[in-house]
Amino acid sequence: MKEAVIFNIQKFCLHDGPGIRTTIFFKGCPLHCQWCHNPESQSFHREFFYNREKCSGCGRCLQSCPQGAIMTTPRGILTDVNRCHFCGNCAAVCFNDARETVGHPYTVHALVQEIEMDRPFYEQSGGGVTLSGGEALCQIDFVAELVKILHHKGISVAVDTCGHLPFSCFDRVLKYVDVFLYDLKMMDAKLHKQYTGQDNRLILENLVRLVNKGAVVHLRVPLLDGINTDDNQILALIDFVKDLKISRVHLLPYHATGSYKYTRLQREYPGHLWARPSDARLHKIKQLFEAYKLNVKIGG
Ligand code: SF4
Ligand code: SF4
Repeated sequence: MKEAVIFNIQKFCLHDGPGIRTTIFFKGCPLHCQWCHNPESQSFHREFFYNREKCSGCGRCLQSCPQGAIMTTPRGILTDVNRCHFCGNCAAVCFNDARETVGHPYTVHALVQEIEMDRPFYEQSGGGVTLSGGEALCQIDFVAELVKILHHKGISVAVDTCGHLPFSCFDRVLKYVDVFLYDLKMMDAKLHKQYTGQDNRLILENLVRLVNKGAVVHLRVPLLDGINTDDNQILALIDFVKDLKISRVHLLPYHATGSYKYTRLQREYPGHLWARPSDARLHKIKQLFEAYKLNVKIGG
């Protein structure tokens, strides 16, 4: 039976495609964007959130662990995920809810059942399901089966993708997906590699192939002040997409809402590097897209 690791199922989403949507967050991504607001999405493995503010240091979690995977350090309680078997004992014995497992295995059947609970909202709003992450298409065998079932049940499917994966993954789901929310972060290959861990060659190639195969594509461009917002970078991006049949462009200004998650994963967050572009700059960028007759919106 196929299983996927999913770290969140968010209901009543209004910014992940048309209408009211249920967004499924798959764990694991081939990119590691430094500004990612879902850092728990990046690893393919299950992890722990540890909330140090809630931890009293009682040590119950250490005693409960059959694997000896938990240790005390000056930074608080640390977990060796290589030793952890995700039995859940430690979270269960923590009276303070300081420990939370991130990532749970789902079968296709269980996920379809969960999705179908929200069907009335999809029907009233023209919404559906959005597969996000992480990168949902990295768990392609599971996703290919899931989207086929949803399609046959008449539930609209959107896939939010970073684009960095073999095109065969897109080919396997193409006829069952109503819209691709395609992330295009920046045109400069060196900067792209510096900030995401990979260059953008495959992402650009896949975007062209996807559009040429007739897929409906909504482009999503994250905007980080001083990183990818100067005229040269914006005009290079527009030049690349202006003749493609892109239905819509969403400009997504940076926000820091996920910064607390880095602390809970006991990772550093380089938040001082990022800033939201000013409203004036955002409107200027929007006008640059509109000058090429692109349908553009600020926000998701
Ligand atoms: S059981 Fe909870 S409160 Fe006690 S040390 Fe572990 S994480 Fe902290
Ligand atoms: S989930 Fe189980 S194995 Fe993993 S750290 Fe907690 S008690 Fe140990």
